[in-house]
Formats: sequence, C-alpha cells, structure tokens
Amino acid sequence: MSLSFTRNPTREVKVGNHFIGGGHPILVQSMTATHTQDIEATVEQAESIRKAGAGLVRVACDNIKDVEALAEIRRRTPANLVVDLQENYRLVTRVAPHVDKVRYNPGHLYHVEKTKPVADKVKFIAAAAAEHGCALRVGVNCGSVDPAYKEKYEDDDIQAMVQCALDHAEILDSIGFKRFVVSLKDSNPLNVIEANARFAKERPEVPLHLGVTEAGLPPDGVIKTRIAFEQLLTRGIGDTLRVSLTLPNPRKYEEVVAGLEILDDMSNGRFRSVPQLSGGLNIISCPSCSRVENEAFVELAVQVKELTHYAKEHDITIAVMGCRVNGPGETDQADLGLWCGSRHVNFKKKDVEIGTFGYNEVLDRLKLELDALILQRQAV
Ligand code: SF4
Repeated sequence: MSLSFTRNPTREVKVGNHFIGGGHPILVQSMTATHTQDIEATVEQAESIRKAGAGLVRVACDNIKDVEALAEIRRRTPANLVVDLQENYRLVTRVAPHVDKVRYNPGHLYHVEKTKPVADKVKFIAAAAAEHGCALRVGVNCGSVDPAYKEKYEDDDIQAMVQCALDHAEILDSIGFKRFVVSLKDSNPLNVIEANARFAKERPEVPLHLGVTEAGLPPDGVIKTRIAFEQLLTRGIGDTLRVSLTLPNPRKYEEVVAGLEILDDMSNGRFRSVPQLSGGLNIISCPSCSRVENEAFVELAVQVKELTHYAKEHDITIAVMGCRVNGPGETDQADLGLWCGSRHVNFKKKDVEIGTFGYNEVLDRLKLELDALILQRQAV
C-alpha cells in the first residue's frame, strides 16, 4: 500500500517475491498460531493470512519435527514464509532451505553457548541465510532483551533495545550481509515510537519492521498499535508491519485486515484522533502462536479483561501470555502476570511467583491480588 508521506530512504530487501524497503509498498505480515506439525491446519491458516493480503507469513519452528512439517508446508502454500528461531539458533541450517526469511532474537542468542561470542552466532545464522537466499530480521523484543544490554543501560530500557539492534546491524555489516531488517517491539506504543525513532536516526537506511508486541485483544490492541504506527509512518519510519492481536485461531487473518485498514486510513488522510495513553488499567496479551499448549488461553485473556474492568481507573498492568517458553520473561514488566501451560496457569506479582492454578481457579486468585494491589496503592 502506498503512503503519501516521505519515507526514509531504506535499502531494498528481497523476501520471496516481495521487497521490503527501498520505497516499495509497506508489506503487512502475520503469524500462524496453529501447531506447526499440524500441517493441514497450518497450511489452511497460512493461506487465510495470505489471501487476506499478507506478503509474509511467519511460522514457529522449534525442533526437527517442526522443520520436517515446514518443508511440507512450503510445498503446499505459495505464501512467502518466515521462521522465528528461538534459542536453538543452529536450527537455521535446517530451516533456511524452506523459507524466505529468518527472524532471530538477540536476547535468545545470549542464553545458549554462553562462552561463544554472540557475533559468531550471528555469523553462523547469516551464513545459512546467505547460502539459501534468505533475508534476516533482527527482532529485539522488550520482554527478552539481552541481559548484557539491560545491565549496561539499566536506567534506559529503550536504549538497551536500540543499542542491541545497532550492534547486531553492525555485526551483519562487518560480514557484508545487507539483506536484513530490524524490529524493536514493546507492549507500550510510546516505547515503540521512541525506540524506532532512535534507531532510524542512527541507521535510516535499514528497513524497519513495526509492531506493538502483546497489544492484546481487539479493539484495544488495534488502538495501541495505531498510536505507534501513525506516529512512526508519518515520520517516514517503517517498511513492514504486523498488528499483533490476541485472537482465536480461525480469526488470525484479522491481524492483516487491521494492518491494511490502518494503512488505508493513513493513505486517505483518515487519521483517527489518536488517544493519548492516559494511564488506567492496561491489559497486555500475546497474539499466540504454535507454542500455545491450551487454546483456553484466548478465552482466559477475554475473561481477564471482563473480570478486571472494575479497576479501569487504576494504573495497573496485567499480562496474559500463551506459553511457558516466553511467558515468564514477557510478563516481567507487568504488575500481575499470567502465563499458560497445558493444564495450569502460572501467576506472578512483579517478579515474585505466586503459584500455579487451574484454568477455573486462577481468576479468583487474580481478583484477590488485584484488590490487594489497589488497596496497597491507595494506602501510599
Ligand atoms: S508468549 Fe508464547 S504463545 Fe504467546 S506469542 Fe510469544 S511464544 Fe507464542
């Protein structure tokens, strides 16, 4: 989709049969939330996302069985595919032959082979990508920032993300790998704006993938995302985007519809009056992916929103995450955090774990803790 705003002169990055950056239309993308090894369901969802208008479809791939499924998914859909690498970055050599782009998270690289320099791990990933004609995304996320940067910039969370992304861009530069984009995602749209603006100031030629992570349920998640996208795109920042929404599986394509609507409104000058983030209750929830072990996660996110509505005037953040892989880290910034396992929901208050509860028990405990937190705040 074309925008009338002057865009940053980013370089062109080829991804399958599309380009990101270089003045090409902004590419909308999304991610499947089916189990990757359920090939039928994943192909069906990838196709629904592609047909809704996505130029790129992300699939989670955590092990060899996922890779085998990925190879078959590749044969059955014409969608341009991107895979998310988790800590097992060496999987890239198995994944790259089947995809157009690979995303790695610098924060995850830190935790494996700790004695090995991070630059060597990046070079390993880039070599596999180059061999198979894949692009890369350096995907920095607020919930999993490399601890070395968190420590160095303990008073400035945003700079920790930005510097990490700049350093990774430099590592890729040093080996002549140019086919990459960068993302800096946070659940707070204001942080997304600031992080991307700082990065773009330093590296205006690197294409940026925009997103507000864990934006939550629609319509709130769309509003949060719109705040960030309007501010950034009107400054010429952003070449591809994803609207991350907590949605049940058959409706994942709605992320694409939401992204296209935002772009359509902007290209037609239809800016909504952007609501300022004035505090109050903030529910963040992840968009789910194949790592979700219990589909009840989406219903839980809805129930948390309904249950806690009475606290809407209080500046409290509640996080609801879909899995045990990223849930513990991604809830770190919340006052109350829930992350879902197959039969139980884990619950913590800031960084103190409260315990695990059945899906039918956890809401009562959440209400108790929320009431206690409100009383505690009022007493101060
Ligand atoms: S928190 Fe877990 S389930 Fe949710 S999107 Fe992230 S990895 Fe997927």
